[in-house]
Amino acid sequence: FGQAVFVLHDQLNMSVWPDWVRREKPLLIFVEAKAKGESLPYHKKKLAYVLSSMRHFAVECFENGYPVYYHATDQHFGEGASEILEDYEDLSLTYMTPSEWDSRKRLREVKNKFENRVMETHNTFFFADADQWKENIAPGYRMEYFYRDMRKKTGYLMNGDEPEGGEWNYDEDNRESLPKEYSVPEVTSFEPDEITQEVINLVEDRHPHHFGKIDDFRFAVNRKQALQLLDEFIEERLADFGPYEDAMATDEPTLLHSILSLYLNNGLLLPWEICAQAIKAHEKGKAPINSVEGLVRQILGWREFVRIYYEAMMPEVRDTNFMDFEKSLPELFWTGDTNMHCMQQSLKPVIEQGYSHHIQRLMVLSNFSNLTKTDPRELNKWFWFAYVDAYEWVVLPNVLGMSTFADGGILASKPYVSSGNYINKMSNYCTSCEYSVTKKTGEEACPFNYLYWNFVDEQREAFEVSGRNSFMVNMFDKKSDEDKKAIKESTNQFLNQLERYSD
Ligand code: FAD
Ligand code: SF4
Repeated sequence: FGQAVFVLHDQLNMSVWPDWVRREKPLLIFVEAKAKGESLPYHKKKLAYVLSSMRHFAVECFENGYPVYYHATDQHFGEGASEILEDYEDLSLTYMTPSEWDSRKRLREVKNKFENRVMETHNTFFFADADQWKENIAPGYRMEYFYRDMRKKTGYLMNGDEPEGGEWNYDEDNRESLPKEYSVPEVTSFEPDEITQEVINLVEDRHPHHFGKIDDFRFAVNRKQALQLLDEFIEERLADFGPYEDAMATDEPTLLHSILSLYLNNGLLLPWEICAQAIKAHEKGKAPINSVEGLVRQILGWREFVRIYYEAMMPEVRDTNFMDFEKSLPELFWTGDTNMHCMQQSLKPVIEQGYSHHIQRLMVLSNFSNLTKTDPRELNKWFWFAYVDAYEWVVLPNVLGMSTFADGGILASKPYVSSGNYINKMSNYCTSCEYSVTKKTGEEACPFNYLYWNFVDEQREAFEVSGRNSFMVNMFDKKSDEDKKAIKESTNQFLNQLERYSD
């Protein structure tokens, strides 16, 4: 065979591979590694999505003239690659640096074992070269600085040296709640074809106890379908994406979001394709600057920044736990079984489709985890196996850096916690909840209310990082002894009754 190329399940796009690969069309090797699928109780739909899109991609490459070797192993990719190298002694292999730490480690072990027969090439699925930026990651280096540099570098939404519209950031315009009669456009679903049905059966057979539901599989599984979803988002949802970016609404799990992260994260779509189409829509007058800048900020800013953070912080960051929370994950993260309406609404789409949007992840689920003193590393694992778009390089910074403050303030400047007020302001959840968002303590009170004030009191150190948060500590201190006592009592009662997950 001579030279072959090893394509990982999250590198499904030949256009970013080096020129010689597209020119010479070498043998492409794909490995389906059962042990990887078993390393966490991954959502059944996630496993089906990963396998189906890899199988579709392999077929597509074959139809485009690449010889393809598709190998299934009970072990990990590393062993899979070794098995092939042992079987074919004249074969040498090039792989692209895996985004995830463990896959990288495994392939580097193969590289060491087979010395001159294995080559590693740079990962080119991202805008930024992480090696050039990762030294900047330190307390005080914020995403905003990186993002502005990237805007200048790419020229996206720039007029010379000035940002389009005069501002770098339109967040102020992007905090509206959804109007009552707003009709949210539906996202196209794709019926499973033969390949997808086959992997659905395989997943059901192999992983019956894994997280989530497998029925009603609706994702795109190839590039053509993913491009159709991108066009649909640009045409139908981008214009209102900005204003309602932070909104939440009952029975509207997707709202105006793009729902493209799962395709971006395995290469079916590329980040510059999405940004370019959004900017084009703005230039044609079809989408306002606050929506387009909001989207570019997420993709060129946050998505790239968290990857650089991961490269800078691994592997020690995996164990980080600034607030020393040791409690295991509440059981309801598995079942969705709770009387808290906001939690139900944020967990149901995860169990059903491996998705909930950013504010549900941040201000409902992570907020609840923080306020109930849950070990952030457990929460991180949950996000990793439960979401279809989760890979360690993106989930870990979002959970241990952003949403739980577990790194002590390197990625974020404050812990993301709030009382029920914030959820009530950004959603209509509270109107159909068994708890009362206006009551502060007692059995009928919204648990976010007393849990929040208890957190402020107990986590002063984390809270005093920024001026605004010391203000909250002062507010707690000014409460009457009676109120403080009631907060403690309600908190203890709630935490004692909360069931925790144990394997
Ligand atoms: P949209 O709202 O349409 O945003 C557009 C794109 O911007 C997304 O597709 C995504 O690629 C990118 N993006 C936005 N915010 C972020 C961010 N903070 N980090 C990285 N990319 C971002 N994103 C993942 O891709 N995988 C994860 O496992 C993941 N875990 C998260 C866990 C927590 C606790 C939080 C708070 C956020 C997490 N995010 C994760 C970021 C973000 O919530 C998702 O990217 C987004 O909700 C995906 O849905 P969407 O495609 O509809 O996004
Ligand atoms: Fe959530 Fe509290 Fe509102 Fe209920 S009252 S939906 S628990 S914020």
